[in-house]
Amino acid sequence: MSLRSIEVLSKETIDKIAAGEVVERPASVVKELTENAIDAGSTAITIEIRDGGTTFIRITDNGEGIPTDQVRLAFLRHATSKLRAVEDLSLIATLGFRGEALSSIAAVSQLEMITKTPDALTGTRYVIEGGSEKELEEIGAPSGTTILVRNLFYNTPARAKFLRTPASEANHVAQIVEELALSHPEISFKYLQNGQSKLFTSGNGQMKEIVYQIFGRDMARELVSVDYETELVHITGLIGKPTIARANRNFENYFVNGRYVKSKLMAKAIEDGYHGFLMQHKFPFTLLYLEIDSTQVDVNVHPTKMELRFSHQDDLYHAVCLAIQNSLIRKERIPDVSLTSNVPSDKVSDVVSKKKSFDLNKQTGIRSDSEQPSHPLPAPEPFEYNRRAIHLPASVAEPSGLYKPDQRPTDRVSVEKKQVNSEQINLFNTPILSPAARDSIRMIGQVFDTYWLMEYKNALYMVDQHAAHEKVLYERLMKRYRKQEILSQMVAPPAVLNLSSKDASIMETHLKTFSEIGYEIEPFGGNSFQIRAVPLELFGQSPEQLVHETLDTLSEPGDNSPEAILDKIASMACKAAVKGNQTLSFKEAEKLMDELITLENPYNCPHGRPTMIRMSRAEIDRKFKRLI
Ligand code: ADP
Ligand code: MG
Repeated sequence: MSLRSIEVLSKETIDKIAAGEVVERPASVVKELTENAIDAGSTAITIEIRDGGTTFIRITDNGEGIPTDQVRLAFLRHATSKLRAVEDLSLIATLGFRGEALSSIAAVSQLEMITKTPDALTGTRYVIEGGSEKELEEIGAPSGTTILVRNLFYNTPARAKFLRTPASEANHVAQIVEELALSHPEISFKYLQNGQSKLFTSGNGQMKEIVYQIFGRDMARELVSVDYETELVHITGLIGKPTIARANRNFENYFVNGRYVKSKLMAKAIEDGYHGFLMQHKFPFTLLYLEIDSTQVDVNVHPTKMELRFSHQDDLYHAVCLAIQNSLIRKERIPDVSLTSNVPSDKVSDVVSKKKSFDLNKQTGIRSDSEQPSHPLPAPEPFEYNRRAIHLPASVAEPSGLYKPDQRPTDRVSVEKKQVNSEQINLFNTPILSPAARDSIRMIGQVFDTYWLMEYKNALYMVDQHAAHEKVLYERLMKRYRKQEILSQMVAPPAVLNLSSKDASIMETHLKTFSEIGYEIEPFGGNSFQIRAVPLELFGQSPEQLVHETLDTLSEPGDNSPEAILDKIASMACKAAVKGNQTLSFKEAEKLMDELITLENPYNCPHGRPTMIRMSRAEIDRKFKRLI
């Protein structure tokens, strides 16, 4: 039996342990080093990675640099220039300044730093590997700091094992770089992956331009500005119009005192602010900058997790909620609740004159949209399901109201492959059931604009029209997929999608599956893709919106098997196809039911909701006490 002995851990071991907290993966290295560059007052920062950052990370800035005699100090644990007294600690800890980043990163990599302060004649080159110093020399260099991190976790194989594929690590890095670029519109960011430029922001403070770079043109076009101030907080930024609603929370971005954060309170305030403007299960795009007295923000629980707590929770909640509502209402998206597409001209001038003009947004330098009174009022876009009577076929229907007339895909969609004219596309024209079966369904009518009642074989059925429609389309699509008879329709001219780098990589990964369902999508340079064709069912849908929504669904964690992916893409397509066709005539509903009841499983829509509920004659009789 060996005696247990107590030993003092070596500095290297302590640093390695500390590194475990700060340095999880390449993305955390990029975050720490870039934040240092920001703190150093840089106006331009270049971030380069190779192999997902596992072999190579280089951050170059033009900030204040580190004086030669302090370079060694910077790599000591708890060495920081940002903290002078213990009293500062609570304040400063909020922002994650703990003087641990450089020492931690140096402990688990091969690191080289070149740095020069503006007033020094020469700079310093410092090499440190696995926490032990290798070189310190004088060198000619431009002002600023370059840090090169090679072979992360080379000396901690257990940690290296937790790294995912380079592509996946690169996605994490890209995400961090995007967050940092969004947090600091006044700094120019350049980001390269394996020598390829992935992001460039000019640093001119124009938020719209950054949104364009990161989220693509489609997003950048549909924004409303926010500027709202209370005693507690000043809120500025941009938020998405209801037209660019998304399927998950990933696009709710907010920054507290210049830091990208996550907060349940904020998410709730944002979503409640949009209440009534968005359909259920839809989430907005936001980019909100909150300036709060830092004593009102509670210290972080963990520096790498971005959860925050606020004092004055209620006040903050209300401020955010109101900031959003004010901007959405100010925009006067719906001048009239009626869903006519022609706004009387007197109405237009009315609305325009009501608009106040707003100050230049000081922080971001964005001009409020409402500063352009000559701007023609957009055609009203309903925030809710459009309940106009649109009669099928969708191909000849009016625009569904989910997108602007000029984007109306029906204008530019033509059918390819088999010759299918608009009659054949009509969803419910194809007789499938035998006349005998058809005769046995008796359609009674519709209630609440949603449910169809029918009598069929000694039972009363209540069918959810949307779910039924989705189900029928889905089964048709899958049937054709199995028979390899996919039908597509051309989108002419092709629609160009400008995606975030994350969405672009999801798109690349699943291009083949998209094509198996009937899409024709091609890379179009950078993070852009061209949609050349969509599945036949999507007649009358905005291809861009559909693909965006599908990517949102694919980005959610879950089953990643090929079948699951296929299923997601197919069911999203069907869900979208249904949106365009809200109101069915009696006849159309009859045909829908005919087709539904012939399916193998007519009882659930592709998303798992029930399509119908059934009450047997016996059950009804019992309720009326005819049968006991
Ligand atoms: P912290 O950022 O918490 O102070 P770090 O370990 O990240 O701790 O950095 C230690 C110190 O090194 C910083 O306080 C700063 O003085 C200096 N430093 C690090 N990176 C840079 C940089 N890019 N430019 C100038 N100084 C830097
Ligand atoms: Mg730091």
